[in-house]
Amino acid sequence: MKIFNTVLAVTTIASACLFSATAGAQTYPDRTITMVIPFSAGGPTDTVARLVAESMSKDLGQQIVVENVGGAGGTLGAGRVAQAHPDGYSILLHHIGMATSASLYRKLAYDTLNDFEYVGLVTDVPMTIVARKDLEPTDLKGLVDYIKANKDTVTVANAGIGAASHLCGMMLMSAIDTQLTTVPYKGTGPAMTDLLGGQVDIMCDQTTNTTKQIQAGTIKAYATTSPERLKVLPEVPTAAEAGLDGFQVGIWHAIYAPKGTPAAVTERLSKSLQVALKDPNVVARFAELGTVPSPDSDATPAALKAKLESEIVRWKPVIEAAGQYAD
Ligand code: ASP
Repeated sequence: MKIFNTVLAVTTIASACLFSATAGAQTYPDRTITMVIPFSAGGPTDTVARLVAESMSKDLGQQIVVENVGGAGGTLGAGRVAQAHPDGYSILLHHIGMATSASLYRKLAYDTLNDFEYVGLVTDVPMTIVARKDLEPTDLKGLVDYIKANKDTVTVANAGIGAASHLCGMMLMSAIDTQLTTVPYKGTGPAMTDLLGGQVDIMCDQTTNTTKQIQAGTIKAYATTSPERLKVLPEVPTAAEAGLDGFQVGIWHAIYAPKGTPAAVTERLSKSLQVALKDPNVVARFAELGTVPSPDSDATPAALKAKLESEIVRWKPVIEAAGQYAD
């Protein structure tokens, strides 16, 4: 009898939870949503997130508030969302670092593939190799020679292990076979401030953070990591053109929710993301920053799941070959 009552109680609780999750999904969203950005305010991911969040808010009829939780290359913010209540009111906008940190970190506070639900891909942002304005070299070849000749003093800024700038910096050091001193920040927003102030020498950072500064001539640009030159930076050669063959990387961004978030909610967010990515203001601002919104077919839970899985597989051997891990 006692067992029967316990089973009955458990079944009742389970049905109640299911009912409230479904009922919640039907009225979702009925209050403010928090979107965690795992990097500092004012940086490239923050810029992308705020544009998308503003437009999604209009479509959802509820505000999406952006919260910056920077540190440890994006893993702190991702961990925060992994532990949040799975009701659709805490979501994460992260980038390629979601995949690379799975191999870079010996221990993460979350399981990358099993602690999240998927919303969709947002955009794939090219990177640029840039330097403080008064660094002498005028082209990439000159920069490589300069770096090699001054390898004990040249500093490279990044947003911590697992950040896009870290990945790109690692690729650069390995391409030119030279180890440099890296200076980690909580995001490339503050790193850019130091590059502008001349406190660090070089950085490889997303166009969403560098385009305006390059156009204004406040930093020097040596190359892009895109397959072709960018419309917004026609003077800047691709890395391949400038002598680093195969030096290509795109920083894909995506939105996630904690594991257990109802599918109706992630589907609703995905639809809203698709609307935002066609918003003329978002399209125009992305274009000014050197990037393009993902098509509808990529802004879906299934496309993101496939992307994350394949990117983890893609970067694992590269990271193992570099042999640089974080604890
Ligand atoms: N996305 C980071 C930021 O927004 C920079 C990086 O990943 O390198 O600051």
